[in-house]
Amino acid sequence: MKPLGPIPAGYAARDGQLAIGGFTARELVAQAGGTPLFVYSRQMLDSRMAELRAAMPERLAIHYAVKANPWHPVIEHMKGLADGFDIASGGELTKVLDAGIDPSLVSFAGPGKRDAELDAAIAAGVTINLESAAEAERAIAIGERLEIRPRLAVRVNPDFELRGSGMKMGGGAKPFGVDADRVPDLVRRIVASGADWQGLHIFTGSQALDAEAIAETQGNVLDLADQLTREIGHGPLPKLNMGGGIGIPYFSGDTPVDLALIGARLAERFAHLPETLAHTRLCIELGRFLVGEAGVYLCEIVDRKVSHGETYLVTDGGLHHQLAASGNFGTVVRRNYPLAIATRFADEPTEEASVVGCLCTPLDRLADKAMLPHAEVGDLVAVFCAGAYGASASPANFLGQGPARELLV
Ligand SMILES: *Cc1c(COP(=O)(O)O)cnc(C)c1O
Repeated sequence: MKPLGPIPAGYAARDGQLAIGGFTARELVAQAGGTPLFVYSRQMLDSRMAELRAAMPERLAIHYAVKANPWHPVIEHMKGLADGFDIASGGELTKVLDAGIDPSLVSFAGPGKRDAELDAAIAAGVTINLESAAEAERAIAIGERLEIRPRLAVRVNPDFELRGSGMKMGGGAKPFGVDADRVPDLVRRIVASGADWQGLHIFTGSQALDAEAIAETQGNVLDLADQLTREIGHGPLPKLNMGGGIGIPYFSGDTPVDLALIGARLAERFAHLPETLAHTRLCIELGRFLVGEAGVYLCEIVDRKVSHGETYLVTDGGLHHQLAASGNFGTVVRRNYPLAIATRFADEPTEEASVVGCLCTPLDRLADKAMLPHAEVGDLVAVFCAGAYGASASPANFLGQGPARELLV
């Protein structure tokens, strides 16, 4: 037997079935017209943001990192919740503009920005978080050609990392950002070009659950921003994107991040900011924390079989929609995501079974040797924590399967 991850708070049974937004799993499948299906809950998106805002100092703006879930209705819903939007491609630029988001609230990070992407972003008035000196020169040249004063910020590759983060994105050699010691010269060059300097972006990592580590890193980010601003010598820092990192529990033993601790530490720091940062606009950028737990992936059991004494529940879903849950998206050791039999959500677990997808590869496993209620063909399986890096971060075309349905309720 292998443990399942913890089901996020807020999911309950109705008529013995998992219910989301007041609808049972079967009702949701009927609404969407079939399985496999991602369901996202407006109410959970709202309550997550409310919980975060209650814990954080008012001064801290909260940005949504669109790559976690770029589905149009989700972006539109987040428009009413987030203070800003961080994008990482020209495709995401189109999506935020299509959703009617004010371009002045959007920043564009990510390595390998093509000229056409820079062109579109500068023309729209989006802030570019520059990843290198060469990218800065291209952005400046495009601004001159378009006769637009580009809004430019510099993404810093700091010399420290976020302890315990699932994905380290700072510290040492990285394809992201400009090494901290080269930032002052680059910023002076940007200012001298006449561009609209928008400040610094310091992103150190993702998916951390240790509030102490997150608070410590945020302190280091503020210290580094102060130091760089003094070295730049061009007055106070206009804006600082402090990065993100707040994760969600995916696996057995994981616990939710202590938001109150992070909020209290930030409030302490904000009360004693140096001159350089006293009037700086401060934000954090979060993806999975805002949307991950609000999403559930539903698929249907199409076969039940026993091989060498082990029970397999074979579904019509799989890693082509849920690469992360299958353990093939940045994990070293495969562990079970939170998963349940959605149509028997109130039943006690009575048997050990593995839940697999419909792809002809041993990688396609949604739960390995999990204790579950007895399930039959036609029952629905729910994979939780599916609101982020699900539909858009999985190889939907693998084996000619095609995309899952999506529903916002
Ligand atoms: C991916 C990414 C995020 C979002 O990460 P989450 O773990 O989903 O919160 C935020 N900022 C940048 C720069 C990123 O690349």
